[in-house]
Amino acid sequence: MQINEKQLALVNERLKAIIESDNYFGRMYKEMGITEIKTPEDFKKLPFVDKAELRNAYPLGIQAVPDSEIVRIHSSSGTTGKPVIIPYTAKDVDDWAAMFARCYETAGITKNDRIQITPGYGLWTAGIGFQAGCEKLGAMAIPMGPGNTEKQLQMMQDLKSTVICATSSYALLLAEEINSRGLKDNICLKKGVIGSERWSDKKREYISNELGIELYDIYGLTEIYGPGIGVNCNLQTGMHYWDDYLYIEIIDPVTGENVEDGEEGEIVITTLVKEGAPLLRFRTHDLSRIIPGECPCGSKYPRLDVIKGRSDDMFKVHGVNMFPSQVEELLGTVDGVSSEYKIDIAHDEEKNRDIILLTVEAEGRVNFDKTAETIKSLFKSKMSVTPKVAVVSVGTLPRSEKKTKRVFDHRED
Ligand code: ZN
Repeated sequence: MQINEKQLALVNERLKAIIESDNYFGRMYKEMGITEIKTPEDFKKLPFVDKAELRNAYPLGIQAVPDSEIVRIHSSSGTTGKPVIIPYTAKDVDDWAAMFARCYETAGITKNDRIQITPGYGLWTAGIGFQAGCEKLGAMAIPMGPGNTEKQLQMMQDLKSTVICATSSYALLLAEEINSRGLKDNICLKKGVIGSERWSDKKREYISNELGIELYDIYGLTEIYGPGIGVNCNLQTGMHYWDDYLYIEIIDPVTGENVEDGEEGEIVITTLVKEGAPLLRFRTHDLSRIIPGECPCGSKYPRLDVIKGRSDDMFKVHGVNMFPSQVEELLGTVDGVSSEYKIDIAHDEEKNRDIILLTVEAEGRVNFDKTAETIKSLFKSKMSVTPKVAVVSVGTLPRSEKKTKRVFDHRED
């Protein structure tokens, strides 16, 4: 989706403010001789901003206003190295709440609702974002924060919560508890607002059925306000996002070129009105696509598809981009196969083609040869590649408490 005139004017206002502030990016643009963006084509030449640069600017190097205007900071959880600190002005905080309230409204939530908020409060943007949006909407916030399932269930019943905000795993845990304790008739939940991450349809169906609620994916990241920059409507046709606050592009994560609407790629976000820490062309590494056309719900806000995964995890074979999430989805449909797997990719010089070796675990009760054949034909029909498949006993592949590395690309070895 090409940047429109109004958005371009806002980008130029931000660019001017960044340069005048002489912050980390202001100095970068000055050095590159960038002072104004005249056309949509010029905009595409603007360099991307990556999380590594935000780390370089730690702690407050990306702040673009004087200290006196900053009212709050948030921080993204750095799994490696320094965290990223994002400063907010009063207007940023208010804009974020307004966007979040719009998310609730899009999900059909009103000021008569009682919203139980289970994401964490503190340095990260989750809990407080859900709370500020709720107050802006005028609904009743029940600010629980994470954990303490006993108390969650008690408050949920006593206060008759109608909306639950949670991560998908915590929503699942609550659904399981409500199911096993037979509490379903005592709860008044109608909707769940779930922080957008990659989660399986199986899990979604279970939560939705057990709790008898509609589920809404809410999108966002700390670097760009936090959660609340997009949400799906009741037609479940993708997440509407707020293009009056943000300009979103989808790029090929490898070449950095913009892709056509409808094509998958990496989400790149430009903040149009953010003051404390404006970002132009921030690479999120989240993978999705812009859904072309208008939603039948009548909303004019454009749509992003559900998040497919992270570009950092993507691999390319025979010119086809593949994600671990797709592999997981396929394996999830095969009987007796565990969720552990390993992918080795190599290049056959003689035949000049890539080879994929997929190692999966299966329970002893299933026939390993048949299972391998099933997986092969599934891959062929769904992903247009035929891997070599090795089936091993459950427990053979290494387990890790951290994120397990599953894809090993030997082509550059
Ligand atoms: Zn819609």
